[in-house]
Amino acid sequence: MLKAFQNLSIKWKLVFISMLTTSAVFLLAAAAIIADNRIQTRTTLVNDLSSLAQVTGSNTTSALAFNDPESAKMTLSSLKAKPNILGAAIYAKDGKIFATYMREDLKEFSFPSAPGFKGHRFENDRLALSKEIQLDREAIGAVYLVSDLKELSSSLKRYISIITLIFLISSFLNFILLSLLQRIISVPLHRLVKTVDYISTEKDFSVRVEKLYQDELGTLIDGFNAMLGQIQERDASLRKAHDELEDRVEERTFELKRRTEDLTRSNKELEQFAYVASHDLQEPLRMVASYVQLLSRRYKGKLDTDADDFINYAVDGTKRMQNLINDLLAYSRIGTKGKTIEPTPAEECLETALLNLQGTIEDNQAIVTHDPLPTVPADSTQLSQLLQNLIGNGIKYRKKEIRPEIHVSCEKKGEEWVFAVKDNGIGIDAQYFDRIFVIFQRLWNKEEYPGTGIGLSICKKIVERHGGRIWVESEPGAGSTFFFSLPVNPKENV
Ligand code: ADP
Repeated sequence: MLKAFQNLSIKWKLVFISMLTTSAVFLLAAAAIIADNRIQTRTTLVNDLSSLAQVTGSNTTSALAFNDPESAKMTLSSLKAKPNILGAAIYAKDGKIFATYMREDLKEFSFPSAPGFKGHRFENDRLALSKEIQLDREAIGAVYLVSDLKELSSSLKRYISIITLIFLISSFLNFILLSLLQRIISVPLHRLVKTVDYISTEKDFSVRVEKLYQDELGTLIDGFNAMLGQIQERDASLRKAHDELEDRVEERTFELKRRTEDLTRSNKELEQFAYVASHDLQEPLRMVASYVQLLSRRYKGKLDTDADDFINYAVDGTKRMQNLINDLLAYSRIGTKGKTIEPTPAEECLETALLNLQGTIEDNQAIVTHDPLPTVPADSTQLSQLLQNLIGNGIKYRKKEIRPEIHVSCEKKGEEWVFAVKDNGIGIDAQYFDRIFVIFQRLWNKEEYPGTGIGLSICKKIVERHGGRIWVESEPGAGSTFFFSLPVNPKENV
């Protein structure tokens, strides 16, 4: 019940509260009026009966004085004219009943043997009154009258019906008036609520609530409008900042894209240049090499010793230059001349690599072993080259005193195939783990270990083209293990 009231609209709450308070006040007033009326009516009843007793007493004085009960009875019978009088009696001086009257419709009426009291007495639904009859200031008897209280109850009924009627009419008027007047409060509130609804659905902070009156609701609406203004301002600056940010991001993205494109282009150009240069240099170099070798064959020992040395240096230099140019050519071919990446049996690639390394393996009496290798997505030529470079390095960087042993294995780890090429060679200091993969970076001079410093950078480039990684684990003197990973599901070919 209370919950239902709490959830009523303000309009109905106002009507309900006002109706309740006015009804309470009205009923209180009505109760006071009825109580007052009852007191008044009772007093009037007593007064009227008292006057009647007085008159009846006076009229029966002579009958009493002359001991004529018949005449007294006659006098009493005139009470017929008063239908509210139920019965009447005249008592003689000795207290005995002298004459009686009883309303016609009554079968019997019991009179007290003596009035027993002076004045009036309310008994249940009747009023009894007794009065002395005097003659020359001397009591010669008493008159006793009994009246019904119909007057009292009919007056009460009349009052209640009048009050009920007034209550109904005034409640109706009250309701009409309240329904009209509550609008003073409910209309501004209703507008406020409608605006809040609109803002929450449309997110439009530009609307304002119209202020109707200068009361507390007016102040509330002013405050609400001011708040809307602030939100609108903040919203606008936020939007502006957001737009600016978006512009900046777009600008940066564009710039980044442009730079990436520039970089890719210059990389491609560089690769192209390296390829063309090394390719074109091969021809003249081959010529130089063959003539220098011819010189060495024909004139060895025929010129002075210095000339022999010079020719040897020249032969050596051209050989190294040929190696360098071949490696450079191989390096620049990875990006430009790669084949498609497709399922490739790694074991076949290993066989190709070992075939190419046959001479080196025999010269060094190296032992190359391997686990069963899987079929992996790869460019078969490049995978062979990769394995060849790593195994070749394992043999080249051997310890002089022991036989080189190389072991190749492969494991699937998550979404990658991880290959490992483990040797028992001289090992690498941890500080050089990154440097060795950079082109032309070498840890030894050519007298100790010959080489161009391109091998591992070729490996890195191949692995990266496949979307994988390459790294090394090693300790100086304890051998090295080179790892490289190939994704199980490679992205589009590069
Ligand atoms: P290169 O062998 O022609 O010098 P690489 O790029 O193949 O060039 O290797 C770079 C350097 O990494 C080598 O100079 C060598 O110092 C080191 N290195 C590579 N492989 C091994 C290995 N298996 N054991 C020890 N050192 C190695």
